Amino acid sequence: MSRAEPALPRVLEGTRQLAAGQPFPFTCHPGVPCFNACCADVNIILTPLDVLRLARTLGLHTREFLDRHTINPITRELQLPIVMLKMRDEPAKRCPFLGEQGCLVYGQRPWACRMYPLGMALPPARAGEQPEPVFFVFEDDHCQGRRQPDAMQWTADAWRGDQEVSARDQLEAGFRELVCHPWFIGGRRQLDPRRIEMFHMACYDLDTFRSLVFESSFRRRFSLDPDLESRLATDDEALLRFAFHWLKFALFGEPTMTLRDSAAAAREHA
Ligand code: SF4
Ligand code: SF4
Repeated sequence: MSRAEPALPRVLEGTRQLAAGQPFPFTCHPGVPCFNACCADVNIILTPLDVLRLARTLGLHTREFLDRHTINPITRELQLPIVMLKMRDEPAKRCPFLGEQGCLVYGQRPWACRMYPLGMALPPARAGEQPEPVFFVFEDDHCQGRRQPDAMQWTADAWRGDQEVSARDQLEAGFRELVCHPWFIGGRRQLDPRRIEMFHMACYDLDTFRSLVFESSFRRRFSLDPDLESRLATDDEALLRFAFHWLKFALFGEPTMTLRDSAAAAREHA
């Protein structure tokens, strides 16, 4: 029986889907006539790692970064909240990190900026299937990268490797498992506001999550390996992985965490 293809996220409407291994032409460097034309009035969805690395680059607490630099658009189709980079409050709506010479945070630029002109969609969760990403290429009029004489041919894999996206995706694999969790199969179940708040805090506001782990009853409730516990105190990436791990328990009741007493376990999922 054939299955209807899911509708594309709005941000990918009008793009061209790439078949596996299909090449696309592209180059981007300060010599292109459109240099920086893509860094204004654009919807950039931030991943948890984007928020963490930009906050660290700017020397901000993750809460402060979220308050200053992000918005949380709400749409009915969203099962989980998304975080978008807030453009400058001016007619041109330039990115706050765009300088005269280009991107001021280039080494820590967000996932979406690295991926462009590629877009990626994950199919909705289906029982027993690991969601395989599908890639799309944006062919925006303002972007002349594909028409330059020095444009090279890229595949999605080669581009992602060149932009150091693949390594980041490994770190955020647990995040994609949350977003595509089988709990959402069928699209009819909604997380309650308290769990949505947990998801937002643990994924994006990592400094607050660290306070939760070390300054609340968290470690009395959950049994943590001592080595892991000491890494969580100082290692941001270990903490981020742990946040994804804990959220599987906190949102969906997966047995990813060990409660210190069974009475607490019974209360947790009563
Ligand atoms: S973060 Fe950098 S690359 Fe991304 S839109 Fe802003 S200026 Fe451009
Ligand atoms: S080639 Fe495309 S991605 Fe590169 S600067 Fe121009 S508009 Fe931006």
